[in-house]
Amino acid sequence: MLTAGGATQEQPLLLSSKRLLLEATVEELQAWMASQGHPGYRVRQVLEWVIQRRAESFEPMSDLPLVLRQQLALEWSVLGTRIAFHSRSPDRTDKLLLECRDGRRIECVLMAEDRRHTVCISTQVGCGMGCVFCASGLKGVERNLTAGEIVEQVLRLRNLLPPGDSVTHIVVMGMGESLANLDNLISALDRLCSAAPDLGLGLSQRRVTISTVGLPEKIRKLATLNRQYHLAVSLHAPTEELRNELVPVNEKIGLGAVLGAADFYFQTTGRQVTYEYVLLHDVNDRLGDAQALAQRLQGRKAHVNLIPYNPVAGLPFERPQPEAIRRFVSVLRDRGVSATVRKTKGRAIEAACGQLRRRLDDPGLSPSAPEPVSSMTMDGP
Ligand code: SAH
Repeated sequence: MLTAGGATQEQPLLLSSKRLLLEATVEELQAWMASQGHPGYRVRQVLEWVIQRRAESFEPMSDLPLVLRQQLALEWSVLGTRIAFHSRSPDRTDKLLLECRDGRRIECVLMAEDRRHTVCISTQVGCGMGCVFCASGLKGVERNLTAGEIVEQVLRLRNLLPPGDSVTHIVVMGMGESLANLDNLISALDRLCSAAPDLGLGLSQRRVTISTVGLPEKIRKLATLNRQYHLAVSLHAPTEELRNELVPVNEKIGLGAVLGAADFYFQTTGRQVTYEYVLLHDVNDRLGDAQALAQRLQGRKAHVNLIPYNPVAGLPFERPQPEAIRRFVSVLRDRGVSATVRKTKGRAIEAACGQLRRRLDDPGLSPSAPEPVSSMTMDGP
């Protein structure tokens, strides 16, 4: 059911006892199929409908016997979330607020540019890292997302694309600390990257970026998993002192351990690491910060991704001046450190981690909540 306009995000989601298709293994599905008297190949057919043909319920699976579709619908749900809010900005950015079965909400974003379709996904409800400028961590972490919930974000966003278009890149830069949920994340990404049509989208691992606050043990573990995922480490400060202020978990970790683990990732995988650096006006965007950062990174095969701050209502940080951004980039480049400035997309729809969820939870934060494309209930689990 699709209802245009009107925000339905206040409606509670009914808990359901149905099993979730995306949480089940192929073996479990095959066992269920057999128990219902259907041949095993039906499992592949069902999954291909979901993964390749964008089915969000069993109804459209026209080459399955009607009785099987009815049996499936009684016991299984294709998707485990509902779209609580969908907003679209003029720069071809779609943002979904998904409500999980337990009523908790997560955000994910689709950004389109030419033929590139990048999805940005969440790994946790909330975040436990407490970076002082970020909206996601304001209420701490509530729970890890399941592998199915991670896969589902990508499918939901892919299903917004015109037929024939597919997701070309995944960035794990939504809500949550990605590496705090490493096992579920890898299981979801491996699945999404699988070329088997009933399992995944055939995406190259090299087109997937995992962003982390920099948990050294988890970075080292990821390095030895024999994958090709791209690693982005959120540095945000060139000195221990400043990083402790902006990224409080740094007090326990230390900049040296973060960089050491990132170096290990590069040595082990051969994949160059990106360092993310949110530019905050007059906090970490000064000449001396750029010089100190260049010094830290000199000699490392690394790339710096500068992210002009996307202001969060109620937090005391501002976007940097354009001149400060230019100066920062040129200081890095002059010292041989590769650097680019991230284009900000989707500002009109709060497309930075945790911002949409927060705005909708507390509409008093701003006079203008983002415009919905639609609020809808689909295939309620
Ligand atoms: N926990 C992961 C993923 C976080 S989101 C990590 O720390 O990397 C991805 C990036 O967006 C991080 O670098 C994060 O610090 C940054 N970020 C968070 N809030 C932001 C904001 N309001 N404006 C710009 N970047 C932000």
